[in-house]
Amino acid sequence: MVAVGQAPSSALADQLLRREGRFIRLTTDVNSVAEAETLVESFDAAVPQWVDFWGIPEDDLANWKVDAFVMRDKSEFDRQGLIPRRVPDFPFGYALGNRVWVLAQQSEYYTRHLLLHEGVHSLAFFHFGGAGPTWFREGTAELLATHHAAGAEIEINKIPDDRDDVPYWGRFKLMQQLRTSSDIPTLDTVMRYRPDLKGDVESYGWSWAAVMIFDAYPEYRDELLAAARLGRDDGPGFNQQLRQRLQNQWPGLSARWKLMCNDLDYGFDWSRERVELSPRNPRWNGKPIELAIAPDRGWQSTGVRIPGGVKVRLIPSGQVTLADDPKPWRSEPPGITFRYYRGRPIGQLLACVLPNAAGTASTSLHPLRVIPVVKETVIDVPKYSWLVLRVNDAVSELGDNKGEYRLQVTVVR
Ligand SMILES: [Zn+2]
Repeated sequence: MVAVGQAPSSALADQLLRREGRFIRLTTDVNSVAEAETLVESFDAAVPQWVDFWGIPEDDLANWKVDAFVMRDKSEFDRQGLIPRRVPDFPFGYALGNRVWVLAQQSEYYTRHLLLHEGVHSLAFFHFGGAGPTWFREGTAELLATHHAAGAEIEINKIPDDRDDVPYWGRFKLMQQLRTSSDIPTLDTVMRYRPDLKGDVESYGWSWAAVMIFDAYPEYRDELLAAARLGRDDGPGFNQQLRQRLQNQWPGLSARWKLMCNDLDYGFDWSRERVELSPRNPRWNGKPIELAIAPDRGWQSTGVRIPGGVKVRLIPSGQVTLADDPKPWRSEPPGITFRYYRGRPIGQLLACVLPNAAGTASTSLHPLRVIPVVKETVIDVPKYSWLVLRVNDAVSELGDNKGEYRLQVTVVR
C-alpha cells in the first residue's frame, strides 16, 4: 500500500508522477509532466470560480484538498492499492469524499474536464453534505467543468465556441443526433434520471442543459443555488422543493427548455439566447402588433400570450446583413440560399408557437415546429401560446448580424 498523498519512497518503485497544488494532490501516469502540472494549475484556478459560483465563504474550503488519481493504466493504480474495493467500476471518473479517480481520455481537454467534474462532486460532498439527485449532481458538475483555456487562465462555465477546442467531449454531436431522431427529453424526464445512472454522455449532456437553464435566467438562478444546500437529499423531496418554489415560472421554463434544446450548439451565447417570455405576459387583445426582429439575437417574443383558437396573420418585411466579408450578405425574410443552416437558408425569418401549458405526458419532446415566414403567412394557434421569432443563422455566427426585420401581427377575422 502506498499512503495516499505521501511521496513514494522510491520514484522507481511505482513510476507514478506526483504533483501537489493548493486544492489538489495529483497522482498520475499521464504522458507528460507538463500535462500533469497543467491539471494541477487548472484545478487550483477552477476552485475559486466554483467558490464564487456557489457563494461559499472561501475560508470554508481552507481544509479541503482532493486526492486525485488520473489514470491511463488503471491496473497499475489497482496494483498499488490506490483504488479502494468499494469504488465501483466506472466509465469516466468517480468521486468518494475527497478522493477522485479519472480515466485519462484521448484529449487533454476531456481529461481535464473529467477531473474538474469529479472535483465539483467532491466539493459538494464536503461543503453541502451531498450533491443532490442525479440530474443536479451531474448537471452542476458538468456546468462547472466545461471550460475555456487551461492552467491559470482557465474559465469555467463556458460553452465551447468550437468543436476543435474540445476534442472528444462530444456533447453537441450527440444532441444533434437526438434532435434528428426526435429524442429530446422533457425537463421532467431529465429531473427523474435514476440514481444508479452510470454516466453516459447523453444523460450527462441533458443534465448539464437542465442545470444550465436554471443558471442562465436570473428568475431561476437563486433557486438553483438554494437547492445545492439541500444536497444531502437525493430523493424526490429535492425536486419537489425546487418545483414548488418555481411553480409559477414552470410554463415559461418548459417553453425555454424546448427552445434551448433545439438550439444548443458550439458558440451558443446566453447573452443573445435568453428568451424574454413570462407566464405573466398579458393576453393579446387582438390589436395589431408591429415587431422588430433583431438578427443578432435568439428567439424573440411578441410580448403577449395569444389566446387559443385564434388565427394569426404575419406580414414580414425589412432587410438584414449576415456578414460583411468579402462583401455584405443582405437578406430579406425568405433568406439567402447561398448558405444553409439546419436545412434552411440563412437569413430566413422563422416563427414558433409555444403553448403556455407545460404539460406533456410523454417523456420526450415533440420536435420544435418551426414555421418559415418568407411572405404573408397565417398561423393557427390552437391553445394559449407565446409566438416567438428569430432569423435563421448558426448560433455561433450571430455577432456580426445587423439590420432588422419588421413583422406585422394581426388577427385573421
Ligand atoms: Zn459525475
